[in-house]
Amino acid sequence: MTAKIVLATRNPGKLAELRRILAPYDVELVGLDEVPDAGEIAETGATFAENAMIKAREVARVSGLVAIADDSGLTIDALNGMPGVLSARWSGRHGDDSANLELVLGQIADVPDGRRGAAFVCAAAAAAPDGREVVVEQELTGSLLREGRGTNGFGYDPIFVPDGESRTTAEMAPEEKDAISHRGKAFRALAPLLSDLLG
Ligand code: IMP
Repeated sequence: MTAKIVLATRNPGKLAELRRILAPYDVELVGLDEVPDAGEIAETGATFAENAMIKAREVARVSGLVAIADDSGLTIDALNGMPGVLSARWSGRHGDDSANLELVLGQIADVPDGRRGAAFVCAAAAAAPDGREVVVEQELTGSLLREGRGTNGFGYDPIFVPDGESRTTAEMAPEEKDAISHRGKAFRALAPLLSDLLG
């Protein structure tokens, strides 16, 4: 029988991306819009894995179904790993991508080429209502430009050049980025582990 799994998001783009990744598996993926009792979930964890698990656990609890969730961000070597779990609200305004990007560029303005290493990190978590849970973490390493290039993607994509690439992730086609991204890798690693929670 096809198992129903909830993805802890109201973002239709994320739901579509995850449906593509989970296509080889016998699961039906639905979003939070189909879970009536799901409110806002505070991301109070200190790590990506904690935040992903907080969301997966809460959605499993209110839905009674296996739930999956992710938490992601940018870690910058020269800023000791910041903005990290604060990536979406680094400038103080949650989700203001251009303010966040400008702030980061200013903070690393004096950091020379060759020391501008960074990584996109994604933790993907799954939780079952009976308490079984699993979490995996993957990253995409690269370096940061001094000004943005490209219009695809979101967040810090215009200044992020993956190792071995000359383009930013904002200059790549979405499928191309999915194939190498922290989020793509994390959910592809999580997918085969879901059967342990569904049984
Ligand atoms: P989340 O929604 O709490 O996981 O926060 C993710 C934040 O990290 C986003 O708002 C972006 O600022 C940043 N981020 C995560 N993944 C990416 C990516 O693939 N490209 C650009 N920025 C990203």
